[in-house]
Amino acid sequence: MHCPFCRYSDSRVVDSRTSDDGLAIRRRRQCPECGRRFSTTETASLSVVKRSGVAEPFSRDKIVAGVRKACQGRPVTDGDLAQLAQRVEENLRATGASQLDANDIGLAILPELRQLDEVAYLRFASVYQAFDNLDDFEAAIAQLRSEDADRATNVD
Ligand SMILES: [Zn+2]
Repeated sequence: MHCPFCRYSDSRVVDSRTSDDGLAIRRRRQCPECGRRFSTTETASLSVVKRSGVAEPFSRDKIVAGVRKACQGRPVTDGDLAQLAQRVEENLRATGASQLDANDIGLAILPELRQLDEVAYLRFASVYQAFDNLDDFEAAIAQLRSEDADRATNVD
């Protein structure tokens, strides 16, 4: 890793620590040439390609922010949102893909959000799947109802 200050081609690790969630390692490094210190973060690569074509690192915070809007006024806690984002990340990592597009993220969120709150699920789906009329809502609600009925039948 090049020194970001003087571009020297080597650096020395002076400290490593694992982040609280265990998904990243942060290292403090020192440049043997200019003596300045800087930090690097190492994570298993998981990036999201936006519609614009720009890739950015996967962010649980962005999942939470996106879902939080759909959960306004609903009985959903910050803890629920954090757990949802964690499960979404685990499911995405389990696919083994290192690069995802925004669509994959939305698809991974939908089933988790549905388990959390059906109203929030419908709101999120309406934005994500670009519902543009009542028929789209009716179709989504009908699907929820029929799947709920299936589950009820299976329990019997
Ligand atoms: Zn340097």
